[in-house]
Amino acid sequence: MSALAGRTAIVTGASRGIGRGIADRLARDGALVAVHYGSDEEAARETVATVEKNGGRAFAFRADLAAPDAVDAFYAALDAGLAELGEGPGFDILVNNAGASGSGRIHQLTPETFDRLFTINVKAPLFLVQRGLDRLRDGGRIVNISSATTKHAFPDSVTYAMTKGAVDTMTLALAKELGPRGITVNAVAPGFIATDMNARRRATPEAHAALAALSVFNRLGTPADVADVVAFLVSDDARWITGQYVDVTGGTAL
Ligand code: NAD
Repeated sequence: MSALAGRTAIVTGASRGIGRGIADRLARDGALVAVHYGSDEEAARETVATVEKNGGRAFAFRADLAAPDAVDAFYAALDAGLAELGEGPGFDILVNNAGASGSGRIHQLTPETFDRLFTINVKAPLFLVQRGLDRLRDGGRIVNISSATTKHAFPDSVTYAMTKGAVDTMTLALAKELGPRGITVNAVAPGFIATDMNARRRATPEAHAALAALSVFNRLGTPADVADVVAFLVSDDARWITGQYVDVTGGTAL
């Protein structure tokens, strides 16, 4: 039987990149996947189409995580999507994947950028968990997508790295708090994965090669490299793992 049959998984920011890879993988493992997106409806539909092509079930729902009413809008849209499929509001897996980068060097940083990154990367996942707790079934799974930038500094990403440091701390604290309900909470920290997020950073062959060389495998990661680890963490096999930070960097740290 499929590892996640009968389970409902929410993946935030799943219209593209790593989130799309996670949605596809969890659906192939049998979960009904709620594909959250911020604005690009067409891209979210493509994620759903990919899932369906691979024999899985998914639907898309929209909420801008930077908006003041983000959490209300998120759960209202989620509930509407679930209801359309005849499903109740309960779910088993929340993958906090949506994220924004681009804080720039310290002299370029503005309070607005600081607030925006903390709103999307920290406040949104925390309050999605808070407001989801009465729907998240006991024994459920939360995976927060962190970043290797918390351990390997890049000069142009001070605020981004700070937000992911907060994500790691949140992961630890929530693991302790939610443990009595059998819920596991873990963080997955990718190194450079080839997505839109870093397209400009690797725009020239030289820049691409330099990023690839950070890994012992001399390549950039793929969304599937991350999705496969998330799939393990949300599976029954990972029931005894919680509060952990999993480095998924192709050996960048070695
Ligand atoms: P991406 O830019 O392709 O995707 C980010 C996703 O987040 C998109 O779907 C986007 O719509 C969504 N998002 C951003 N702001 C939003 C908002 N205000 N409201 C709703 N959704 C919003 O990047 P990605 O590489 O796929 O990133 C996915 C996650 O992985 C992020 O948390 C990112 O920080 C993390 N990460 C990426 C890398 C990498 O190298 N690509 C490395 C480490 C960590």
